[in-house]
Amino acid sequence: MAIERTLCIIKPDAVEKRKAGAILALLEENGFQVLALQRSHLTKHVAEGFYAVHKARPFFGELVTFMTRSPVVIAVLEREDAVAKYRGVMGATDPAKADAGTIRKLHGANVGENAVHGSDSLENAKNEIAYFFPASVVAPSA
Ligand code: ADP
Ligand code: MG
Repeated sequence: MAIERTLCIIKPDAVEKRKAGAILALLEENGFQVLALQRSHLTKHVAEGFYAVHKARPFFGELVTFMTRSPVVIAVLEREDAVAKYRGVMGATDPAKADAGTIRKLHGANVGENAVHGSDSLENAKNEIAYFFPASVVAPSA
């Protein structure tokens, strides 16, 4: 298994509930190294660009409104098999369907306000990391 990087966004609902620290601690306990960390309040333009792949989905407007309502915490995570391992620790999109002990089961409210984002492929992880972090902060991985 290769060492990979993936992108985590702790979403507004979880930051508002002061769960960012607990979520980062859980990720560290699961073997992830936090390579870079940033707190920011996403603009509409930045959120729309990040979720451009979902533009045609009926929940797109709701998603952008949610993601811009208050600050997020964005982290670059690294470990062996990071993309798949983080999807596992994150849990299903709908917290009601997420496994016990996952971040979304522990901290998510509903299918929209589900505490965290996670990249869904290695290629998307690279693009998403580059969307938020310049190479001067996180050198591109091989
Ligand atoms: P995931 O975040 O698990 O990769 P998706 O990529 O399918 O899920 O969706 C992106 C985000 O859009 C979700 O995390 C959630 O915040 C929101 N979302 C997905 N499905 C719905 C829905 N049916 N209603 C409202 N928001 C949704
Ligand atoms: Mg997704």
